[in-house]
Amino acid sequence: MKVLKFGGTSVGSVDSIKTVIEILENNIAKGEQIAVVFSAMGGVTNRLIEIGKMAAAGNAEYMEFLKVVEERHFVVVRGMINVKNQSSTFAAVRGLFNELGDILKGVSWIRELSERTLDLIMSFGERLSTLVISEILKSRGVAAEFCDARNLIHTNATYGMGDVDFEITNKQILEYFAKRSALQCVTGFIASTGDGITTTLGRGGSDYTASIIGAALDASVIEIWTDVDGMMTADPRKVANAFTIPSISYAEAMELSHFGAKVIYPPSLQPAFAKNITLKVLNTFNTDFIGTFVQKAADKKDYAITGISSIDEIALVNIQGSGMIGVAGISGRLFTALSENNISVILISQASSEHSICFSIDPKNAIKAREVLEKEFSHEISLGYIDGISIEKNLSIIAIVGEGMKKSTGVSGKLFSVLGKNGINVVATAQGSSELNISVVISKSDLSKAL
Ligand code: ASP
Ligand code: MG
Repeated sequence: MKVLKFGGTSVGSVDSIKTVIEILENNIAKGEQIAVVFSAMGGVTNRLIEIGKMAAAGNAEYMEFLKVVEERHFVVVRGMINVKNQSSTFAAVRGLFNELGDILKGVSWIRELSERTLDLIMSFGERLSTLVISEILKSRGVAAEFCDARNLIHTNATYGMGDVDFEITNKQILEYFAKRSALQCVTGFIASTGDGITTTLGRGGSDYTASIIGAALDASVIEIWTDVDGMMTADPRKVANAFTIPSISYAEAMELSHFGAKVIYPPSLQPAFAKNITLKVLNTFNTDFIGTFVQKAADKKDYAITGISSIDEIALVNIQGSGMIGVAGISGRLFTALSENNISVILISQASSEHSICFSIDPKNAIKAREVLEKEFSHEISLGYIDGISIEKNLSIIAIVGEGMKKSTGVSGKLFSVLGKNGINVVATAQGSSELNISVVISKSDLSKAL
């Protein structure tokens, strides 16, 4: 069994859907047993969120926007299904839009849009794209079936990003697939709670769906079909000579997709990783290209570094004071306070003098972080044990990533000397003992040069 997943751009237009159908039919012709997961048509999820917000704001214009989304699906039906078979698909698509229209009307009446309702609204994106494509396949004589992942994947009630209950989910997937021989067209991104309330797996979560299903079914491979040539050594928009990485380990892929261009949604690696299933990142718009293989152990490379990633904009928070030296529990309190306030930390650095701890966060959390920490350490600050909390903005992070670093010396020497020779000041740095990633904080104005 092979699981294929097609992202938003791949299912975004009549032309790209033609390629998707070709890829699927080629697999079938070769006798491959496949299951396929689809994202919403490109841009639809964002549009649905916008429409939901408009409805909640009492802006009746949302109806026009909804019509545009509906028309995009109709264009695909008209372009891909012969006239004779169109009407039932039109009716089904219209049915979903009617349902969505009713929900939005409710939202506009009560002027309230909860995370839970937003998940339900977003779910229509994948339900529509998958419905339409399964109908296209059927009209071409392929034994295909629409599969609503909400019946298979169960999560808790954390709306916007449900936590998957793998025990029930795996069982349901196995039972479901055991009874079916038709090609299953599965909605990406969406799931449900045990009570049948719709949830989602987080933005970009269709990759995760593919990985969950692939792992449950012990797939031989999971193919992630996207709109770029696999995972690149750096962001090609920033680094002109970036190139595709032919083979990468799960750990490296995780490091690289944490930063920079999110070719793969990081949580999606876990189920595949646990079952040691190879993921292939492939390009729907360049089907002959070999793409990137993501595996437990990557093939041997000529370089110690697999890739360079970056985060454009971070804020660096520094907390320092003589009263922190040798005192246990400061960092515990620090990071607990941040986590209780949902502030995620990107990088942490503390030198052995223990005189200061610095960490980087998303700049949008900077004000909140200061408030939270000033409150947490108000006692120490008033006594002068801690000097205060300082925040520096307009900074970026670059990280070099690669398993090859473990065995070689001089990589960090080279990194810092090349930055130094080019007049790029290093503000902070961190390297974990896994030696998989060396991260440096630099001024934002130096980012392109540094990359
Ligand atoms: N449609 C969802 C999103 O845009 C899920 C996905 O594309 O993977 O986030
Ligand atoms: Mg997407």
